[in-house]
Amino acid sequence: MSVTVPTTLAEALAALADSPTATVVAGGTDVMVEVNFGHRSVSDVVMVNRVAELRTWRHEADVLHLGAGVTWSEIESSPIAEWVPALAQAARTVGSPQIRHVGTVGGNLGTCSPAGDGLPVLAALDAIVHLASADGARSLPFGDYMVGPKRTARRPGELITGVTVPVLGGWQGYSKVGVRNAMVIATASVALVADAGSVRLALGSVGPTILRCPEAEAFAAANVDFTSGVASSAVVTQFAELARAAARPIDDHRSSAAYRRHAVGVLAGRLLRRAFPNE
Ligand SMILES: Cc1cc2nc3c(=O)[nH]c(=O)nc-3n(C[C@H](O)[C@H](O)[C@H](O)COP(=O)(O)OP(=O)(O)OC[C@H]3O[C@@H](n4cnc5c(N)ncnc54)[C@H](O)[C@@H]3O)c2cc1C
Repeated sequence: MSVTVPTTLAEALAALADSPTATVVAGGTDVMVEVNFGHRSVSDVVMVNRVAELRTWRHEADVLHLGAGVTWSEIESSPIAEWVPALAQAARTVGSPQIRHVGTVGGNLGTCSPAGDGLPVLAALDAIVHLASADGARSLPFGDYMVGPKRTARRPGELITGVTVPVLGGWQGYSKVGVRNAMVIATASVALVADAGSVRLALGSVGPTILRCPEAEAFAAANVDFTSGVASSAVVTQFAELARAAARPIDDHRSSAAYRRHAVGVLAGRLLRRAFPNE
């Protein structure tokens, strides 16, 4: 077993080229739980929490680039919180302050659980995930990156270097329900992004991947009055119904499928109402 602690991206990529199946560790808040429960055996380790290039973010021309190592604490705070409020809302629901202090957006993307709090927001924002290996770099839309429950398009030897999201002018929000109010994995979650005559809706914890809702989105685009900021009660009700219809939930130890389906409808309706408070 080897443990490598690179301090530059080039060193990290070289370490992964030497050992393409090495376990990448950022904050370790997912990895260490899996190791402790015996769900993951670790041989080589590449720690990336000291790689400066991964710890930085930049905001240029209405695009925000978050390095994979940016933590939830940073995302929930100013100035990132003003640029991507829905991602900041999601960040505030991740674990506890201790978890948010070390847990990263790249780690959420690495685990890629359908319950990951950052992921519905990234899906609704049409985020681009950036990957790199010693052979080169590539970028994938979030929808192509997440291919199943905890399954991604990341190849052995690749590192997630960051994620890019647009900085938009419209309303955006994130809501989740779980079995208690804090320190809880989502039973159902919803992100909604309204911008320039469009509404984008993504559901978490109700399918094998984060689900976008094209029918609800098209319905909202056709029926919300974006100029006056008006969504009628009938529109909100039908939008919630279309979100419910898009869910593909399962029964498990956290919830029944029926409750999950009901919950995403309620959350989607509430978010549309907040985005368009005028009736
Ligand atoms: C008590 C507790 C509460 C939690 N609550 C929540 C919650 O409410 N919501 C939520 O979404 N999550 C929660 N989590 C899970 C976890 O904190 C988050 O998923 C967090 O974002 C993981 O980030 P990390 O940096 O710790 O990832 P790590 O544990 O370091 O890594 C996670 C996975 O991503 C891979 N990885 C990490 N960085 C990279 C990279 N740059 N390139 C390639 N692969 C990489 C790792 O190999 C691993 O497979 C909780 C965890 C704990 C222990």
